[in-house]
Amino acid sequence: MTQPLTIALSKGRILKETLPLLEAAGIVPAEDIFSSRKLIFDTNHEHVKLVVIRATDVPTYVEYGGADMGVAGKDVLMEHGGEGLYEPLDLEISRCKLMTAGLVDAGPVSGRMRIATKFVNITKEYFARQGIQVDIIKLYGAMELAPIMKLADQIVDIVDTGNTLRANGLEPLELIAPISSRLVVGQASMKMKYDQIQPIVDGMAKAVVARRGE
Ligand code: AMP
Repeated sequence: MTQPLTIALSKGRILKETLPLLEAAGIVPAEDIFSSRKLIFDTNHEHVKLVVIRATDVPTYVEYGGADMGVAGKDVLMEHGGEGLYEPLDLEISRCKLMTAGLVDAGPVSGRMRIATKFVNITKEYFARQGIQVDIIKLYGAMELAPIMKLADQIVDIVDTGNTLRANGLEPLELIAPISSRLVVGQASMKMKYDQIQPIVDGMAKAVVARRGE
């Protein structure tokens, strides 16, 4: 029996790069996602729906079965912790780096370093692994501003070209992890709907390999 299947997609730049991979796996939205304010979309398959949500909410939806599978950046998955999720496929899209960064020519810090970031869990673990004690300041945007305003000594943030850092007098320091978007599947959904999910994973995997040659 065909069961309903929901795929959670991250809004924004990841969405644009995900749709061609989904299409290669035979799943096409029934209307133009970009010109709509809807959150739920029908597809060319009667039983398959897409939900378009904030990237940080994708692992939560998939973990709790609100969606069966989804696409999210590795940064978001690392921060979430990955409970209840399988990560069967690196989609090799939306590549960037998770890095520490600081003001160009910042001198040594006396005492505990203060790090501003929205990636609190990743940051805690990264510095703890090196035995460095830091104070973490949670921000929701414009991390680059924190060292300039002396709120923090360094930041942990996503870096692509490095232009945003440079434009604000900062430089990248250490690489924490290379990032790309991943396909995730809820562990319960994988068990219950394996016959529907696995062909989608396989179809997307083929498209990822085909893209490498382009
Ligand atoms: P850039 O100036 O090219 O280094 O881009 C840096 C900013 O773009 C970061 O502050 C991020 O918010 C955003 N960004 C770049 N690449 C990605 C990505 N793959 N996923 C999410 N955000 C990104």
